[in-house]
Amino acid sequence: MGETLFDRAKTRLDEATKYLDVEEETVVRLKAPKSVLQVSIPVRMDDGSLKVFQGYRVRYNDAVGPTKGGIRYHQSVTLDEVKTLAFWMTFKCAAVGLPFGGAKGGVTVNPKELSLLELERLSRGYISAIADSIGPDVDIPAPDVYTNSMIMGWMVDEYSNIKRAYSPAVLTGKPIYAGGSLGRDDATARGGFYCLEALKERLRLGKGTLKVAIQGFGNAGYHFAKIANDAGYRIVAVSDSKGAICKEDGLDPESVYKFKQQNRELKAAYCEGTVCEVVDHKRITNAELLELDVDILVPAALENQITKDNAKNIKAKCIVELANGPTTVEADNILAQRGIPVIPDILANAGGVTVSYFEWVQNKQGYYWKLPKVHKELKEYMEDASVEIFNIAEKHGITLRTAAYVSALRRIDEAVKSKGTERQFHVE
Ligand code: GLU
Repeated sequence: MGETLFDRAKTRLDEATKYLDVEEETVVRLKAPKSVLQVSIPVRMDDGSLKVFQGYRVRYNDAVGPTKGGIRYHQSVTLDEVKTLAFWMTFKCAAVGLPFGGAKGGVTVNPKELSLLELERLSRGYISAIADSIGPDVDIPAPDVYTNSMIMGWMVDEYSNIKRAYSPAVLTGKPIYAGGSLGRDDATARGGFYCLEALKERLRLGKGTLKVAIQGFGNAGYHFAKIANDAGYRIVAVSDSKGAICKEDGLDPESVYKFKQQNRELKAAYCEGTVCEVVDHKRITNAELLELDVDILVPAALENQITKDNAKNIKAKCIVELANGPTTVEADNILAQRGIPVIPDILANAGGVTVSYFEWVQNKQGYYWKLPKVHKELKEYMEDASVEIFNIAEKHGITLRTAAYVSALRRIDEAVKSKGTERQFHVE
């Protein structure tokens, strides 16, 4: 009651402490963000009027390294949400063993209502407002919901102008010719796919063709559909904010994507070259998609989609969380009781920030990797983390989510301890 998203997120931390001998100081530090910045961003609109947007940047914890996390543009962005997303980033980076702490940014705006020029002015305005609190060794933003490489290109340009120095390592997810990394575009989806492949047998998902339903057809959802389809999985349903499409014998993700680019509409299509033809399919709601009888359910949109109300109706054999926070705490308990494994967000969608880490390393070295190297390194990170987390879950008889938090907390605790805690200074 009166509980915020942030309060609920922190219960996962409390749960993890039961399985680890962790310093009191670590837990206390992880209960509140390191810093919260709220800014007003004045933007000159195309009609000459002035609009002021609210923006946030939360640095949650930097025990492990500089803070890292995306920037979200959405009309429902609030400080509570950004704080929670920054908390999740802290655990995500630690769960896969990246040398980063966690942060997140957001602007309360519906980007679909802005022209491209207004969007550019807003993006530059946001960076100018937070420029003093970010930096290649301090806090490193990236894309998130409704931001992309084009926006990162404007932002890194703005930051470099302010600093009067070429500073590509301040931001990741940049366009390739602005210092981006190959393979960053589909990294979130690819990472989730590598997790699924690494755990498929351990989770006993069967050997036949696996049926997949994906909620969300943005960067993560579309790329997951394409990668899984190419690997022989059958994509039976995908959705966007307006609804879902379903085709039992499988959709062709690339054609659906092409059709959506051309017509701004989600329809089952088949394209040859640029010519697309709509094929037979069913239209269902986003809520119905979540309850489809499939092997793998992939929430790849926003928070709080699987709740106590629909968790009992989920028929999928496994859930792969490409979105951040799609499952509520209550729903998690129901799914655990029903024996439906969830590959949790802080593991399943960590591929994005992992390739962001590679991008940052490449920027710092001025030496750029070929795509096979990016894929190989990403695979290694995701497989190692997946197996480690699976083993922790088996050992304690806990969910993969709690195990991921345990694994992350252990690393954060080591980082806190290595800087000195009361226990070290306590003379008996
Ligand atoms: N926004 C992505 C996430 O939630 C990527 C963050 C990053 O690359 O820093 O993980």
